[in-house]
Amino acid sequence: LNLQDSDLRKLSELGQGNGGSVVKVEHVPTGTIMAKKIVLIDAKQAVRKQILRELEILHSCRSAYIVSSYGAFMAEPNICICMEFMDKGSFDGIYKTIGPIDIEVVAKVALAVLEGLTYLYDVHRIIHRDIKPSNILCNSQGEIKLCDFGVSGELINSIANTFVGTSVYMSPERIQGAEYSIKSDVWSLGISLIELALGRFPFSESDPYDPEDDYSEEDDSSDPNPNPTNPDLGKTATHRDSLLPPSSGKTARRISKRRSKGVSLHGGGLTMSIIELMHHIVREPAPRLSSGKGPGAGAAFPTEAEEFVDACLLKDPEERKPPGGLLKFSWMDTARMSIFDIKEWASTF
Ligand code: ADP
Ligand code: MG
Repeated sequence: LNLQDSDLRKLSELGQGNGGSVVKVEHVPTGTIMAKKIVLIDAKQAVRKQILRELEILHSCRSAYIVSSYGAFMAEPNICICMEFMDKGSFDGIYKTIGPIDIEVVAKVALAVLEGLTYLYDVHRIIHRDIKPSNILCNSQGEIKLCDFGVSGELINSIANTFVGTSVYMSPERIQGAEYSIKSDVWSLGISLIELALGRFPFSESDPYDPEDDYSEEDDSSDPNPNPTNPDLGKTATHRDSLLPPSSGKTARRISKRRSKGVSLHGGGLTMSIIELMHHIVREPAPRLSSGKGPGAGAAFPTEAEEFVDACLLKDPEERKPPGGLLKFSWMDTARMSIFDIKEWASTF
């Protein structure tokens, strides 16, 4: 398929991320519906060519757990990547629409992500590098697939946004500067699974009280506009605010304290708050699946689910298993044998 921008008719916006935006398009000559990812890059012509060469690998990625690619092309100053359109969207959107995700579905998500990671690494020696609910997609066939993996080193280097690669799903060792490894993806999976099962980002109510951090009088409303200039950061700020309620958790209080005092890096309170969260990830015990559960919070999760998530979130990467090791956990056997119908489930929203 020889893709060119003039053959693509825009249908709707699917969303925006730090690196660019995604639109639903029709490839008019064939009538194929696609998701077109538009990435604004800052690179010379030679590097752009190199990126397109690196993106060729996308063509050879064939797995039931990986969103397939139709191809990539340059549309100056952007690079466009056309991929399979997943009509139920990403799991962050799904839980924000329907609330906490049924643990049987979360088990199937875990299985699909591990199978996808194993395929990418075993067949192509690719590490995903950006596992998070918005990169785990679902369609009305009941399929669960990964997108946005790091195929092109040059593309990662060239994305015209300094904050790309800074993510709240980052493992402690990555935050501390270690090279990406396949085990960093396992950490990000653990955080993502808790987020789906609780219906909120895990770093909020789980922190033990620390008398050193007596910021309880802080009020987030003292900061009317945390980031007036950068729309990408503005989006992330909204995301982060909704994940960390201002009055719950030590980190959130510390963040709001810093923000209201106007301490800032890179010209906005937000960056400081991400750094605060990163400190928290490195210093504090890892979150747990059961962490958000208080009295009246509903039924407990299955023990094998908690064991699995605990294993994903071992802070020491030496102890943490790679995806293949996690596929051997009993929760994954349960997921394989489960008769839960994702297609049926996906028809309810
Ligand atoms: P992020 O993943 O950080 O949210 P992206 O720019 O990668 O940012 O994607 C923006 C949104 O577009 C995602 O949250 C997802 O909901 C949607 N999206 C991405 N790829 C697809 C796809 N292939 N099919 C349907 N929706 C998609
Ligand atoms: Mg994405």
